[in-house]
Amino acid sequence: MDLRLEPELLQIAARARRLAEERLAPRARRSDEEGIFDRDLVPQLGAAGLLDDRLSAQATALIAEELGRVDSSVRGFVTVQAGLVGHCLADWGTEAQKEAWLHRLRAGEAIGCYALTEPEAGTDARSITTRATRTDDGWRLKGEKHWITNGGVADLGLVFARADEGLSAFVVPTSTPGFERMPMPGRELGHRGSNHAVLRLEVALPVDAPLGEPGQGFKVAMSALGHGRLGVAAGAVGVLQACLEATVDFARRRRQFGQRIGDFGMIQAALADMATDLAAGRLLVRQAAWLRDAGEDNAQALAMAKLFCTEAALRGADQAILIHGARGYSNEYAVERYWRDAKGMQIYEGTAHVQRVILARQLLGRDEGGASGG
Ligand SMILES: Cc1cc2nc3c(=O)[nH]c(=O)nc-3n(C[C@H](O)[C@H](O)[C@H](O)COP(=O)(O)OP(=O)(O)OC[C@H]3O[C@@H](n4cnc5c(N)ncnc54)[C@H](O)[C@@H]3O)c2cc1C
Repeated sequence: MDLRLEPELLQIAARARRLAEERLAPRARRSDEEGIFDRDLVPQLGAAGLLDDRLSAQATALIAEELGRVDSSVRGFVTVQAGLVGHCLADWGTEAQKEAWLHRLRAGEAIGCYALTEPEAGTDARSITTRATRTDDGWRLKGEKHWITNGGVADLGLVFARADEGLSAFVVPTSTPGFERMPMPGRELGHRGSNHAVLRLEVALPVDAPLGEPGQGFKVAMSALGHGRLGVAAGAVGVLQACLEATVDFARRRRQFGQRIGDFGMIQAALADMATDLAAGRLLVRQAAWLRDAGEDNAQALAMAKLFCTEAALRGADQAILIHGARGYSNEYAVERYWRDAKGMQIYEGTAHVQRVILARQLLGRDEGGASGG
């Protein structure tokens, strides 16, 4: 087994790292503090080739890790844009839908959002109540979505609604009359540089608006999450990498009792655990990505990667804050942001409970029902 990355993968990881360090790092703290989604970044991500749904799963994971190491809000944007929206259109779209949107999404000239979650339908995606009704000349959609990443800035929404045929997906330009959006109420714990919106829809759509056949929406939604969860897991590896780098640096410099705090056994044990989690998480992500690229079923590997990496990032960020002492409790240092962002990653695109449900069902041989999570 050769675990070395091929030169093309190393190149794309280096390109993502360069963009993250040059463009994201200088503005990550301000964007978190002020809750700014920086739209100007989007064409830059496109020009660097980081929004392309045609990249291999391994390349996608490396990009997510490098962006996640610096700014989880931007990593989240990329996962939604390329992982959820781009892939879904490429996999399920008609030629006309692809022609209309894919090039613009890849170039960062248009922004997409993925609208599954509703006030009363989170993990249980099958229970959504947004209604899709056939009309004489197309479709009518009515309902409300919440927590939609990119929702307030998107040009295109992939919106899931219940039709007579069952759960269905629709391609909805946000310029459609009756597509209302507003910021989520309250202030998010993390991912504060992302745009999260409530969408209120009462829209008329053309006959060719469905993505995939009406009634196939659950399959469409889950196929998208298959791509998205890889980005979240890899992004969490990036967060853990950032926690380790920050903490090693701090443990070398901070002195108490006349010695570096890194020379205390308890600090060393925490660093060793973080480094081990990091290596294990990275391998789980590599496995899930490799299986997808090989065209094999990666559902189990993906659930393990999403579960382990997000929780390892949380553990790592928790230790990073503790080891920074009071400094870690202030946004003078980035480790408190890493913890706030990692907490969100444990929740969206299938909570940690749901990943355990998926794994337990595979172990126990029962694979029915609808636990999913947008
Ligand atoms: C930062 C952020 C960005 C998001 N972006 C998007 C987006 O772009 N698009 C989108 O559609 N949604 C998005 N979401 C919503 C997200 O996908 C949902 O929050 C998530 O699926 C969980 O749904 P819920 O919050 O309604 O919790 P619920 O489903 O109500 O769950 C509540 C609790 O019950 C547990 N639970 C539920 N079912 C089970 C079960 N079967 N077994 C065990 N435990 C269970 C859950 O794990 C959780 O702990 C985002 C959320 C966040 C925080």
